[in-house]
Amino acid sequence: MIFDTHTHLNVAQFEEDLPETIARARELGVTEMAVVGFDTATIEKSLALSEEYPDIYSIIGWHPTEAGSYSKEIERDLQSKLILPKVVALGEIGLDYYWMEDPKEVQAAVFRRQIAIAREMKLPISVHTRDAIEDTYRILKEEKIHQVGGIMHSFSGDLEWMARFLDLGMHISISGVVTFKKAVEVQEVAGAVPEDKLLIETDAPYLAPVPYRGKRNEPGYTRYVAERVAELRGESLERVAQVTRQNAHQLFRIG
Ligand SMILES: [Zn+2]
Repeated sequence: MIFDTHTHLNVAQFEEDLPETIARARELGVTEMAVVGFDTATIEKSLALSEEYPDIYSIIGWHPTEAGSYSKEIERDLQSKLILPKVVALGEIGLDYYWMEDPKEVQAAVFRRQIAIAREMKLPISVHTRDAIEDTYRILKEEKIHQVGGIMHSFSGDLEWMARFLDLGMHISISGVVTFKKAVEVQEVAGAVPEDKLLIETDAPYLAPVPYRGKRNEPGYTRYVAERVAELRGESLERVAQVTRQNAHQLFRIG
């Protein structure tokens, strides 16, 4: 049984074949997943899915590429939804200097605000960081993230950065990027993450792993991530599946 800790079944790409996609995931052994909502519409859809399916959980938050539209109203709405029983983390939040939709200061303020809420509500966070790893690290450290912990989603840093985020108490989540030939750093990290800090994910519909690279990704493909991670660690698929699922349960306080 495999847990996909970061997927977006709540976006348009899955509108037409959602039940089939979930059924296909189960056939591949992916029985649990966290559906990440990142703006008003996708948060609603994530909550609807986690209400409907026992093995689907919600992670909700305000994405860094949406930082400019964050407001008191949005924050209040978010707070009222974060208390729902199937909401297991706050995210994805962070910094995105690749798209740079809003100035760094705006992104940082929205990131810090949401970390404060996570601390208040004792929820782990799910972190998105793109071309912004240094500032992401500094903010997580200054905001005392070790008090609640969280996930470096689709981690793409090197071994040194991995060690630094582990020092902050963060989990490291490996996505389909690990199956790409040239992703040597991600492969090194996947082989080196301490067993109790390792998670796996798809980030579907993005980042489809080999052999589906370039196509629409789906949660079922977490299996191919798990297979590659197992290979890199010299462990069995079953072992990686079991350990990452157990870590997800512990972090998300499931069961
Ligand atoms: Zn995502």
